[in-house]
Amino acid sequence: MKINICLLYGGKSAEHEVSLQTAKAVIKALDTNKFAIHPIFISNEGNWIKGPELLGPIENVKELEFRNEGEEVGPNALSTRLAPEQKGSYDVVFPLLHGPNGEDGTVQGMLELLNIPYVGNGVLASSAGMDKVIMKNLFAQAGLDQVKYESFIRSTWNSDPERAYDQVETEIGYPCFVKPANLGSSVGISKCENRKELAEAFVEAFKYDRKIIVEEGVTAREIEVGVLGNDFPECSVAGEIVPKKGFYDYEAKYSDGDTSLVIPADIPEEQYKEITRMAIKAFKALDCSGLARADFFVTKEGRIIINEVNTMPGFTPYSMFPLLWKHTGVEYSELIERLVQLALKRYEEKQ
Ligand code: ADP
Ligand code: MG
Ligand code: MG
Repeated sequence: MKINICLLYGGKSAEHEVSLQTAKAVIKALDTNKFAIHPIFISNEGNWIKGPELLGPIENVKELEFRNEGEEVGPNALSTRLAPEQKGSYDVVFPLLHGPNGEDGTVQGMLELLNIPYVGNGVLASSAGMDKVIMKNLFAQAGLDQVKYESFIRSTWNSDPERAYDQVETEIGYPCFVKPANLGSSVGISKCENRKELAEAFVEAFKYDRKIIVEEGVTAREIEVGVLGNDFPECSVAGEIVPKKGFYDYEAKYSDGDTSLVIPADIPEEQYKEITRMAIKAFKALDCSGLARADFFVTKEGRIIINEVNTMPGFTPYSMFPLLWKHTGVEYSELIERLVQLALKRYEEKQ
């Protein structure tokens, strides 16, 4: 019997296009002898459109952007169709979504209510991982080394911006990074060297979120490791991001040529060991399952600082996470199958 897998992709987020590329690659990698592939496209406007079963790879992502020809389902219609007693339509859902409304626990919560197994992190890990402030608070509790950080709420800042800047200057200093609390892909992030830039950065970051985080800026190598598993997570080899510009911003992440990925990262064995120890600890601190990519800063002095955990890391075959696993001996198609098995196992264990 084939596994009926539903791919949920597109989405109402800055990462819509990336998600389409991921879907295309996942479709190509899925063995159609083992899987029946059911696509659901979420448009930029947030419409959920179900397409016909896919019988093989597609040429162009345009083929995945169902418009009028597809069947409009929407999350509500989906819930009637897939109520627990009707289970059987899909054996597993693979949410190929990044950022808010996809990677943040909202879709995961819906799938929990519908009682359908799904790939990747659950509600708690997804939402905790999406909020940089909550994530860092959990890391702090787990005793993981981090940069100094402070968080701010829009309304409080609005009532007295100068006070917020004073607080940054006393607690953090320059250079610092200002980021929306709940985004990814470097959207809305600025590096600041002085108060004028700080004020501009607050305005920019508050466009995206009511909560922001300000962090101490460090000069460091950026080392990342993939984590795979549920209760017994394992780490991949480490990789290094070498940006050609100032920092790893949105453009650098998604256009070719601005950054290079070095895999495996050229780091001493003891550093690698410490990084994997910290990555597993971070994975458990957020109660992750399935997969995560843990990102670190490593300073010249050898200090290892955790930056973040991404609960749905970039997943095209050229993204860091799949490449890390490839170098560890797990090819893209095997990686997908392992994730599906992990999803089914977690679902079983929950019953
Ligand atoms: P995102 O979730 O959007 O990837 P990150 O926190 O990883 O956000 O920040 C994006 C990039 O900005 C990092 O990969 C790094 O290049 C740079 N950066 C972020 N925070 C710091 C920091 N505290 N010190 C130095 N560089 C940073
Ligand atoms: Mg992130
Ligand atoms: Mg990042």
